[in-house]
Amino acid sequence: MSKRILVSGGSGFLGSYLCESLLKQGHEVLCVDNFFTGRRRNVAHLLANPNFEIIRHDITFPLYLEVDEIYNFACPASPIHYQYDPVQTIKTCIHGAINMLGLAKRTGARIIQASTSEVYGDPEVHPQREEYWGRVNPIGPRSCYDEGKRAAETLFFDYHRQHGLDIKVVRIFNTYGPRMRPDDGRVVSNFIVQALRNEPITLYGDGKQTRSFCYVDDLVDGIIRMMNSPTGVTGPINIGNPAEFTIRQLAELVIEMVGSSSELVLRPLPQDDPRQRQPDIDKARALLGWAPSTELKDGLVHTIGYFDELLSRETAFA
Ligand code: NAD
Ligand code: UDP
Ligand code: UDP
Repeated sequence: MSKRILVSGGSGFLGSYLCESLLKQGHEVLCVDNFFTGRRRNVAHLLANPNFEIIRHDITFPLYLEVDEIYNFACPASPIHYQYDPVQTIKTCIHGAINMLGLAKRTGARIIQASTSEVYGDPEVHPQREEYWGRVNPIGPRSCYDEGKRAAETLFFDYHRQHGLDIKVVRIFNTYGPRMRPDDGRVVSNFIVQALRNEPITLYGDGKQTRSFCYVDDLVDGIIRMMNSPTGVTGPINIGNPAEFTIRQLAELVIEMVGSSSELVLRPLPQDDPRQRQPDIDKARALLGWAPSTELKDGLVHTIGYFDELLSRETAFA
């Protein structure tokens, strides 16, 4: 049955894939975005579809529309962008969540929140299970995002308990793929762009910290499964790829795959940078029948191809 679905942050990296998949499934999609980090180019190929509509709007302000489902994905996700205007970041997390929840309450829509592995902070429990409450600095440079996302989870569960809203919360672990921005400072895009340009690869700290990288197609499949899970399956649920790598291993793999002459250079570790991160996905397996199927190497092939084309287009127009 065709639904009318709002995707906030729909022109961003993850949001654009969600819009695409939901349109393919025959739904009507309203992409709501203020274009802070999102780009029209990410959804340009969807504009001709009569079921697709873009609304320029900042979710920290109220929004009155009629919808059946809401994917709340609006929020800058890379440290460079979420620390650029930290007050706006926490407003987006909190006021944005309140407005989307108010909209869901009035329309009776089901609503899913894009939460994050950052709610676990710099974790003492490894891998991270959903029961773990996390170790987050409330006043550091990452707090606008980490604490904002934690407060948003609180709001989701309070609206659920107090007003009976049909909520879902997914905790997304590091995700990569085509349509990441070349300048957003995240590790996968940085390393690929540096390798393609044969520039030094910037390892922060000693490069021994770990992350677990999920390819975007796997992630979007997990999120849509969660949205379509039975009422009462609220989460929070981890969605990510448990294959864990040190940042140095990632750098070496990217250099090898690109065939780059880049060298590794050490740079200071940013404050509060988590030392390790790996999702426990037992819940996603059991409740959603979901597990990622793309290995890092395969996902990197597509991502390197995307950036290679993007950079050569930029050079051609320079
Ligand atoms: P992104 O920056 O590409 O997308 C975010 C989108 O939200 C952009 O299009 C941006 O313009 C829009 N936006 C920001 N503030 C807004 C506001 N106030 N009103 C309306 N639109 C606004 O980031 P992404 O990687 O696609 O992340 C999407 C969501 O997933 C975010 O909520 C992020 O916290 C979450 N998440 C992402 C990852 C990841 O690895 N990519 C990991 C964990 C969680
Ligand atoms: N809201 C919105 N769209 C709607 C309904 C509500 O943006 O369709 C916003 C509105 O700004 C409101 C917030 O969501 O303040 C929270 O709504 P709720 O019903 O929980 O609270 P109240 O209206 O009592 O403030
Ligand atoms: N990182 C790095 N070099 C870079 C960018 C990031 O070594 O050019 C490190 C960063 O310090 C962190 C990891 O890579 O330990 C992942 O960083 P990212 O910003 O992608 O994600 P997050 O820290 O939010 O998980």
